[in-house]
Amino acid sequence: EEIEPIVVIVGAGHAAGFLATSLREGGWRGQVVLIGAEAHLPYQRPPLSKAFLSGEIELAELLLKPQSTYDSAGVTVLPDTRVERIERTRKTVTLSDGKSLQYHKLVLATGGRARRLASPGMEGMDCQPNVHYLRSIDDVLRIRAQFRPGARLVIIGAGYVGLEVAAIAIKRGLNVTVLETQERVLARVTAPAISALYERVHRAHGVDVRTAVEVTGYQLGPFGDAVAALLCGDGTRIAADLVIVGIGLVPNTELAAAAGLAVANGIVVDEYNRSSDPDVFAIGDCSNHPNGIFGQCLRLESVPNAMEQARTAAATLCGKPKPYNTVPWFWSDQYDLKLKMAGLSQGYDQLVLRGDAAGQSFSAFYLKQGRMLAADTINRPQDFMLAKRFIAEAVALRADDLADESIPLKSLLPAAS
Ligand code: FAD
Repeated sequence: EEIEPIVVIVGAGHAAGFLATSLREGGWRGQVVLIGAEAHLPYQRPPLSKAFLSGEIELAELLLKPQSTYDSAGVTVLPDTRVERIERTRKTVTLSDGKSLQYHKLVLATGGRARRLASPGMEGMDCQPNVHYLRSIDDVLRIRAQFRPGARLVIIGAGYVGLEVAAIAIKRGLNVTVLETQERVLARVTAPAISALYERVHRAHGVDVRTAVEVTGYQLGPFGDAVAALLCGDGTRIAADLVIVGIGLVPNTELAAAAGLAVANGIVVDEYNRSSDPDVFAIGDCSNHPNGIFGQCLRLESVPNAMEQARTAAATLCGKPKPYNTVPWFWSDQYDLKLKMAGLSQGYDQLVLRGDAAGQSFSAFYLKQGRMLAADTINRPQDFMLAKRFIAEAVALRADDLADESIPLKSLLPAAS
């Protein structure tokens, strides 16, 4: 009697949901079981800080696929269930309901959780009912219940999530203050010119953006049951009706580490998404993979990466291995600004601006020794598409040509391509 191989996928997020259907498309004949701690089918997180926060789209529109797709693909989804333990010698996982499950191949797609605010003076603040993180549908439902016009919202952290929330909140009529410890918004991910544009646009819409401020404490309201104000290092007190903390992500690697898998800023995988155990894979935000184009290991937090890693793991599992080898990219939508970024800018020796940096349509190209490392493009989808090619193909470029709008970017590709 032939035994059907079983793939167990831990986590039911973006990477997991995409993997389940990719496995079928790739010809996987055995069982597929998706185990997720959340109550929902796999869904997209980007709208959580955009159209779902604003209420423009409904919960059902966040789902990657409806239940019927998993049913017809023969994928079993177990929501509201955590994997508590992996036993690699017996090839089993133990679930929160006490059951255990056999696997032939195991895929860890556990994503990450919001980094908690734990600096001195901030202890206990995030237990208050008007303080929120933003990672899941349930987080947004709680936030939306307190999103009233006129409410004073303080956002801690001016990364993508914080700024996207600010853009939605100000449109909804809240009073919005953004507090950032760095000298500028988006400091970790972009060039000063782009940060300056975002600060300008947010302020023009009425957001009070404060950089280089440290939040050092908080005050509770008269009944002690909600945060009433935040205290800053410079002595200012900012009254708040609600607080949203967006200070980054911590990858969920504890399960893998407890099972003895290699973990170093993410679950370590090879270019086929295999972990240090060849029967265990890791994909998405929780994994750290070698990127062929940049010649370094990366842990990325983006939908394109989650999908590409799911595709790579599916190909390996279906016996058609193809190494992961793509240019990382990311997007962010705020107001009318469509930011698309490609590559990794660390170590650049030249920054070239193309277009009107004072306006709302330009690109910043990061070069190292005449090759493009990265590009941040604002309302310029064409520049973005070409930048991905310049980066992937290591095209030799001159800064003057890139900056000159009378020269079409396309003409800078090598003649053969
Ligand atoms: P996740 O989507 O986090 O899924 C992991 C799942 O695993 C979770 O549901 C978790 O509960 C579950 N899990 C963890 N441990 C266990 C366990 N032991 N047992 C069972 N289940 C478990 N990316 C972009 O590219 N563009 C954007 O504009 C963008 N905007 C974003 C906005 C917000 C507010 C957020 C939060 C993220 C955004 N991202 C964006 C990032 C993107 O959503 C993530 O990169 C993507 O969701 C990663 O997918 P994943 O499957 O690796 O992890």
